[in-house]
Amino acid sequence: MTSHERTSPCQKQRQHLDKRYADLSSSHLLLPINLPPLYQKKAHEEATALGHWNGPLCRMVLPCEEKLESTRGIEVADFVDDRNNMPGGPGDCVIQKYQDRVLFLMTEKCFGHCMFCFRQDVLEEKHRKLRGDTLKDKIERLITHVAENASIQEVIISGGDPLTCSMDHLEFIINEILSRTAIRNIRIHSRALVYQPGVITEELATILKKNNIRLVHHIAHPYEICDKVRVAAQLLESTGVAQYNQFTLLRGINDHHEVLLQLMDKLDSMNIRNLSVFFPDPVLFSSTFRLNFSRIFDIVSRFNWNSPSWANAIRFCQDSVHGKVRVEDLVEYIPEKGYALFKREDKLIKVPDLPKKLDIPGEISTLLWKG
Ligand code: SF4
Repeated sequence: MTSHERTSPCQKQRQHLDKRYADLSSSHLLLPINLPPLYQKKAHEEATALGHWNGPLCRMVLPCEEKLESTRGIEVADFVDDRNNMPGGPGDCVIQKYQDRVLFLMTEKCFGHCMFCFRQDVLEEKHRKLRGDTLKDKIERLITHVAENASIQEVIISGGDPLTCSMDHLEFIINEILSRTAIRNIRIHSRALVYQPGVITEELATILKKNNIRLVHHIAHPYEICDKVRVAAQLLESTGVAQYNQFTLLRGINDHHEVLLQLMDKLDSMNIRNLSVFFPDPVLFSSTFRLNFSRIFDIVSRFNWNSPSWANAIRFCQDSVHGKVRVEDLVEYIPEKGYALFKREDKLIKVPDLPKKLDIPGEISTLLWKG
């Protein structure tokens, strides 16, 4: 990143943290800093206004002191066990955890790297050990897998960020799925809207609309939505693309019901329907973003009590090795035990808790510093 462009008073501290993180990311499977220009501008504005680098947008994309600290011993590299759900073995571009849908990792590339990314271990491994699979290899792999599994009804194109791929490649993938399988439900997950809204063009919107593709954005804070984001979302909306959103509850970024309310309001004004709010996975180097479960449940309740039904008709959930569980699937939470227990069908899912003393909440005056 071009740190010399920064004007914030705390540049030296920033450079020091970035350097330490660069060393850490090269020795662990952590994604390096990758900050797209629009987001860099927003992060700098925020740091300048706050006088520090610990505001919500900065924390999304830049390492903070706590991120650099060693892990807490309760986190694992791949909590949802992506690797074990790759039918072709580690490195596969197909992940199947549910009978009726399959995840297709079209690319490892992203427009920017999120410090909280729960898949960074798998992604960074892919970056380092590229199997040399071409897009054609990947689509053949997907088509074969779908043909062998008649229960699959939906393909979720993910990554990385599928919208980093060229229009030709995207259209090729969509055409192959629709013409060679019985799949009619295709979903794309992307952070393009907030990282690089310029890639949302009329051509892209037309391809998505023509093929009935659902587009799921990952917008996690209301300040990620600026005029450029609104214009891009409006282009999708006027073309008739079905837009959704999902995001993770993140300490120091959106860990207050007021932030969630503002985000829901902005998404609603853009006709984007929020589907899920995830609790952060306990993956390595994630404790800076995690919350103690008692505070998670408190935020969920406050959000529900203080919002209208169009806003709170969403699911709060935890992803796991056995699939997603909702807050309603909680079967036991005794804070002293150090975990929350959920149940999905007949399977119990134990999620390690973040010790309460480590859960320092984001201050509302920082989380919503614009007022
Ligand atoms: S865009 Fe998605 S896949 Fe890429 S770093 Fe962010 S969360 Fe991870």
